Amino acid sequence: MADPRGFLKYPRKDNPMRPIMQRVKDFNAMELDLSDADRRQQAARCMNCGIPFCHHGVFFGGGRAVSGCPNDNLIPEWNDLVYRDQDRRAFERLSRTNMLPDMTGRVCPAPCEVSCVQALNGPGITIRNNEKFIIEQAFKNGWVVDSGKPLHRTGKKIAVIGSGPAGISAAWRLNQLGHSVTLFERDDRFGGFLMYGIPNMKLPKEIVERRIKTLSQVGIELVPNTEVGKDISADELKQQFDRIVICTGARQARDLNVAGRDLNGIYQAADFLKLATKEVLKDGTQANDRLKGKHVLVLGGGDTGNDCIGTAIRQGCAGITQLEITPPLPKERTPQNQWPEWPMVLKTGYGQKEAKALFGDITEYSATATAFFGKNGHVTEAQISQVDHFKPIAGTEKKIKADVVVLAMGFTGAEQWLFDQFGITTKNANYTTNDNQIYVAGDCRRGPSLVIWGIHEGRMCAEKIDASLQTLASAKL
Ligand SMILES: Cc1cc2nc3c(=O)[nH]c(=O)nc-3n(C[C@H](O)[C@H](O)[C@H](O)COP(=O)(O)OP(=O)(O)OC[C@H]3O[C@@H](n4cnc5c(N)ncnc54)[C@H](O)[C@@H]3O)c2cc1C
Ligand code: SF4
Repeated sequence: MADPRGFLKYPRKDNPMRPIMQRVKDFNAMELDLSDADRRQQAARCMNCGIPFCHHGVFFGGGRAVSGCPNDNLIPEWNDLVYRDQDRRAFERLSRTNMLPDMTGRVCPAPCEVSCVQALNGPGITIRNNEKFIIEQAFKNGWVVDSGKPLHRTGKKIAVIGSGPAGISAAWRLNQLGHSVTLFERDDRFGGFLMYGIPNMKLPKEIVERRIKTLSQVGIELVPNTEVGKDISADELKQQFDRIVICTGARQARDLNVAGRDLNGIYQAADFLKLATKEVLKDGTQANDRLKGKHVLVLGGGDTGNDCIGTAIRQGCAGITQLEITPPLPKERTPQNQWPEWPMVLKTGYGQKEAKALFGDITEYSATATAFFGKNGHVTEAQISQVDHFKPIAGTEKKIKADVVVLAMGFTGAEQWLFDQFGITTKNANYTTNDNQIYVAGDCRRGPSLVIWGIHEGRMCAEKIDASLQTLASAKL
């Protein structure tokens, strides 16, 4: 245990966020860091509980959302090591399970923290921030690349398709175990939604690029701009590799089938955010005026909608309306939703906070768009309605200005065509499929989820493949 009285001595201190009016002027990281001394005090708050709910990853309460880290991260162990100033050992513990703490340390919603025993009657440990500290120490001291290098090569060749968190995690672990890995990506840059989804202010792209560089440094072959199934066929891949892992994500976006949907200026969130990131990568991180004078309508009240709001603000929009089709969640936990379950309570995301500071309240609940209207083929207005159980209520329609519309209504699952080309009809919970040579991991298997689920699936899938190859590789680590 870190400091036996640490949780009594030190109040929780989060990494500070840059002030809203300063941070909306650029796409740079919003989050700052504590001093090393403060960080070690925060780690000292961990009580090393007999039953550490923080790393259980269990679906309590009917399985709505996971409680605790779904990746078996050894949280109390590395908290203790941070407190003791043993950062290298902390990194060794963390990297046993988490192949990408540089990502989760910045973007994980941290189900571990709300199921921390201290969260029973106060704020939990700053687990996510502690994780970020450990991996940043590891990068600073050059420990990361060493940790990914194999002791020997097995001679087995593995293709990983898709370079999101699941693909990277699978590739990293398979390489660590000695297999020769080739990572195929259809985009020009690697990272999946880490690169072209989560905006720069939340996850700076130099952090993603830094990780991608380590993949080459540990010996993974990177093949960008190559869409498997089109640029190289499933059959070709099957001939060239011993095993293939499909990690293509849940890229089928939910759409809105209403009049005027085909007007210009209506974007899917993933396309809108990808374009914004490409501009940041090309032109730099200063705010721009791409949406100057425009009123933006965002459909969807989740995290993706929030990212679209934060992005539109940095693109200089004149105003934003956000519609969420469900009613608002309660402000506090209900008796049916107690610790250690994930709290089903109303949250105000960073983008919503920024919009509130600039424009006032922008969010309407139990509401959707029922038609779009335009001029010269471009959207200018939306008709919006209140809904009851997802159905528009007659007589509640009103028209609002909408020069740009972003559909952030979630994803329904994987693109099916690649699975058809490989002849995959079954995706099993243990990452196997109906074809012994083909495995599947991440959002394309489990549906839209979180970065940490992708990391977990990639790692577990790699272990499964390794066992199937029956080499001596698993003797290492
Ligand atoms: C806007 C947005 C914000 C998010 N924010 C967060 C957050 O803050 N925290 C969090 O935990 N989660 C967040 N998520 C969810 C998280 O990003 C995903 O759960 C995670 O990226 C899924 O990982 P994955 O590897 O399964 O798939 P993806 O990240 O979707 O990667 C799939 C990759 O496969 C590639 N690909 C697809 N088909 C082919 C093919 N045929 N050939 C070659 N390559 C192919 C794609 O180009 C892509 O690079 C967010 C998601 C979005 C959309
Ligand atoms: S990955 Fe997320 S849930 Fe797991 S320990 Fe880190 S912050 Fe917590």
